[in-house]
Amino acid sequence: MMEDLESIMFTKEQLANKTKAMGRIISRDYEGKDLVVVGILKGAAMFTMDLVREITCPARLDFMSLSSYGSGTTSSGVVKIRKDLEADIKGKDVLICEDIIDSGLTMKNLFPMLMKREPASLRLCALLSKPSRREVDVNIDYLGWEVPDAFLVGYGLDYAEKYRNLPLIGVLKREIYA
Ligand code: 5GP
Ligand code: MG
Ligand code: MG
Repeated sequence: MMEDLESIMFTKEQLANKTKAMGRIISRDYEGKDLVVVGILKGAAMFTMDLVREITCPARLDFMSLSSYGSGTTSSGVVKIRKDLEADIKGKDVLICEDIIDSGLTMKNLFPMLMKREPASLRLCALLSKPSRREVDVNIDYLGWEVPDAFLVGYGLDYAEKYRNLPLIGVLKREIYA
């Protein structure tokens, strides 16, 4: 699998240190709150699972799966809920956990849908962000790293459903997806 990578962007150790640091800040901010961590499947599955283990206040854990029409390496921005939350978030402090914010369209579409459910608060936590690709403004409350415009795989991130199981994040060789 490693031979399909052009380079490594974040090692297993860097990822562990980052989730630990983010978990510490989130734990402090949500002390005494009714926290629901919502992982966005499947890309943010690994990140969400590692992050919640670093959160020291009692948190609920839920997942959503979204589909944006379109395929390949970009998203179209029209978001549909493929798998909804199991629990009502009314009055809860909801923290959305995303793998990467690219155009920003997915989160821009999702937030108003969730706001209608009247959570006490709604914030966004993203492991990665590609600011150079942004089409709409998205406020990221907790961010791991800003990354350049390269196609990344691993630690949940896929190309055609593959490479999610890589324990690190790398840049996929162009010849694999071109
Ligand atoms: P946005 O709506 O912000 O453009 O889309 C974000 C989604 O696009 C991410 O959740 C992810 O599924 C996908 N995406 C964006 N950049 C990358 C990337 O470099 N690698 C992979 N595997 N997916 C990406
Ligand atoms: Mg995603
Ligand atoms: Mg994907």
